[in-house]
Formats: sequence, structure tokens, C-alpha cells
Amino acid sequence: MKFKQKVVLFTLALVLALSLGVSASAQSTLDVVKARGVLVAGVKFDAPPFGFINEKGEPVGFDIDVARYIADKLGVKLQLKQVTSQTRIPMLLEGQVDMLVATMTHQRARDEAIDFSITYFFADQRLLVKKGSGIKSVDDLVGKTVATVQGSTSEINIRKAQPKANVLTFQEYPQAFLAVQQGRAHAMTTDASILVGFAGPNPDYEIVGPSIAPEPYGIGVRENDSKFRDAINFAIMDMWISGDYHKVYDKWFGPNSGYYLPMTGAIEVWP
Ligand code: GLU
Repeated sequence: MKFKQKVVLFTLALVLALSLGVSASAQSTLDVVKARGVLVAGVKFDAPPFGFINEKGEPVGFDIDVARYIADKLGVKLQLKQVTSQTRIPMLLEGQVDMLVATMTHQRARDEAIDFSITYFFADQRLLVKKGSGIKSVDDLVGKTVATVQGSTSEINIRKAQPKANVLTFQEYPQAFLAVQQGRAHAMTTDASILVGFAGPNPDYEIVGPSIAPEPYGIGVRENDSKFRDAINFAIMDMWISGDYHKVYDKWFGPNSGYYLPMTGAIEVWP
């Protein structure tokens, strides 16, 4: 190949690489969100106190406050869209939401489809039962019915932890709790941080047993968008450093919240 041809080829390759690089970065959700002026967060409406509808009919909760903090950090408005455990990953992949702040455990199996932020909440799975039920742990669930939600790690974990239990699944957590209240299920299982959302206002119910599984929550984003993921990670770290995380935690899980749950982990902060 002549020198001139080499130069032409090299220039073409460079132009191509640059334009690919530019279009890839132009497609970051961070840029899309900033141009739009709105961050669309997929949140739960069925998981008190992370995301639920209050007496005034407004969606509120810990996850919603985290989403609002991130939107404020990015200088944009926040729009909320309801997701369930079952619909959240498809809704993110279809582009219906920019991120998922939705009680979602980050795990390797889910990381095949989407990416996750650093851990922003430390949860673990337990059981909720009616007081005096005699059920103390998964060992007492042989031949018993346990309610949970489709698309959750809770369903997969409980089937492994107690293969002799009947697992009754629903779309949303209030339906699972209703099954226990109506005696159609002996127990309900998911993260204790969600169970407290039902046991808190209903003192006839209690959370029992050792942890069935650790369930660290991450914010879900689409694959290969480190610009957006970095912005989210740094917002989570800033929320922790500034003390806003503790304020929001105390509001939803503090001794006067009605959903008391001591904090069990510290957010990873990069220097
Ligand atoms: N954290 C668990 C999960 O990601 C249970 C809570 C939920 O269903 O969102 O599946």
C-alpha cells in the first residue's frame, strides 16, 4: 500500500472512531435527561416505605426521595413511573424509564441484562407472620403457604430455602399481605425493609427468623452507559457525605417513622 493510501485509510479510520465515540457519548442517558430537563424514575407504588401512595394520593417513600435527590443533583425535574418487580427490567430496557430506584437487589443474574449503581440500601430477606403463629423460621414452613411477588429475588430464594413450602405469588406486595391477613397464606416473605412497611402499621403482625438472603439494593440503568452510572453513583455518595441520606433514612426508618429499622450498612464513598 502506498503512503498516500495509508494516510487516507488512517484518516477514514480516525473519523469513524471519532464519530462512533461522539455518537456513543451523545447517547448517554445523562445527556438525554439534561436536554429533556426531566429524569424519569421507575419506582414502586407497592412497597412501603420505599414507594407507596400516601393518604393524599401522592407517591412517596425512601426510593422516591433518593430519586428526587438525584434529579436535584442533575438539575432536572423528576417524573415518576410505577414499576413492579416483574415489569421493572423490561420497562428500563424498553426506554420507558431512565433508571430504576425500585427496591431492586443487584445481583449477577440481573447484571446480564442491565447495569447497577453502587449499593444504596442494605436489606435482607425475612418472614412476616401473624403474632402467635408459631412460625419462627423457614423450617416451620413445611407444607405451609408463603406469599410473595413475581419477579422478586424473594420468590427464588424462598423456593430454595424451603422447597417444601407452597409459594403463592402476586404482582404486588399489598396483595401478598392481604393473603396473610385473610388466612390464604401462613407467611409473607421479602426484604425486612419492605415487610416493616406492612408490620409497622399492623401491630398484629411481626417479622421473624434469621436472614434468608442478603439483598443489597442498586439503582438499575441500561448497559454500557458509564457516564450516567457515574453521575448516579456520585449523587448517592454525595447524599451520604452531606448527611441527606441520614435525614431521609430517619424520615422513613427512624424510631418515629412507624417503620423502625436500624441502618445496617454504610454507603461506599470514593475519595
Ligand atoms: N429486593 C428484592 C428484589 O429485588 C425483593 C424486593 C422486590 O421485589 O423488589 O427482588
